[in-house]
Amino acid sequence: MQKKLIFLLGLIILMGVPNKEIMAMNQLSPMNAVFGLESNLKQFPGMTETEIAQELKKEGINAVFGGYENKTLRKALHKEGIKIYAEIGLFVGTEHWKSHPESRPITRMGIPMEKEDWYGGVCPNQEWLRQKKLLSIQKLCQENQVDGIWLDFIRYPCHWEGKNPQLTDTCFCPVCLQKFQQQTGIKIPAKLKSTKNKADWILTNHPDDWYNWRCSVITDYVKETRKVIKKVNPKIVVGLFGVPWTASDYDNAIYRIIGQDYRKLAPFVDVFSPMVYHRICYKNPNWIHQVTTEFQIMTGKPVVPIIQACSVPDTLSEGEFIHSLNEARKSPSSGVIIFTLDYALKEKKFTLIKTGL
Ligand SMILES: [Zn+2]
Repeated sequence: MQKKLIFLLGLIILMGVPNKEIMAMNQLSPMNAVFGLESNLKQFPGMTETEIAQELKKEGINAVFGGYENKTLRKALHKEGIKIYAEIGLFVGTEHWKSHPESRPITRMGIPMEKEDWYGGVCPNQEWLRQKKLLSIQKLCQENQVDGIWLDFIRYPCHWEGKNPQLTDTCFCPVCLQKFQQQTGIKIPAKLKSTKNKADWILTNHPDDWYNWRCSVITDYVKETRKVIKKVNPKIVVGLFGVPWTASDYDNAIYRIIGQDYRKLAPFVDVFSPMVYHRICYKNPNWIHQVTTEFQIMTGKPVVPIIQACSVPDTLSEGEFIHSLNEARKSPSSGVIIFTLDYALKEKKFTLIKTGL
């Protein structure tokens, strides 16, 4: 009898953990954040740090991404009860292709990946970059009193924003091929000499081992960054900006191409933020709520979607912006992040953010 009771109690505690976490997040008021607050105060001409913080509070903003390099602004924001979060881009930037040409991803055709528009992805297995980013994260946490860090570009390369994203199998660089063999025990036949032949062999004979391993590369790195962040201060929230795809999009490209396995990432992430830029992705505003719900079911963690305020690729009307805000805030969402503060200000959407609050 006692054993049965203990078992039941254990079950209740276990099942209660994720729910409690979400409840705690929702009991605090839902996040209402703007992305891209600048430290130089230029977004609010003629205003002091204190006035900016008060203005943000007046508009219902309770969290900002950015602005933390300015100590006075930081203090003013915290005084108004506004949380300060940082975003850090990890495996991205063509500047790395110049300083470390080996970091440019290699496609299954055995050729370096092309730059697409502004975007250039970076191989996620470059040890120098992984260490460098961990150090920057540690420094950022130690020096800026941020309340949270959202990991960005924490994935394999793909310029996913658009109507028909190019889905390229990567990365078949020497570092990746060696690490894959070491960590899975799978041996690529020695007779295969060209990268294309090696890639074809892997994708024909061990596709799931390859895809799972790639996902574990990303998950393990998130685990490492979490350790670094929580060591500085366990209260710092670890967030993740996720590609807003689920298994039904592009034949499970979230797994095959992006390498973000949200179920496996869940234990190491406090808040998930799918980047549901609906116009950029040629979707309706309702899609924002659908993706948010799927993320919540997959992860059991608080989900705060990030939505666009920008008229890209064409006009985003005031009415449609308010509609997308409402979709983003619907349960089980734990709030919303506006991308970006600059666009909201320029397109006169800043004062609309408080609509419905
Ligand atoms: Zn690589």
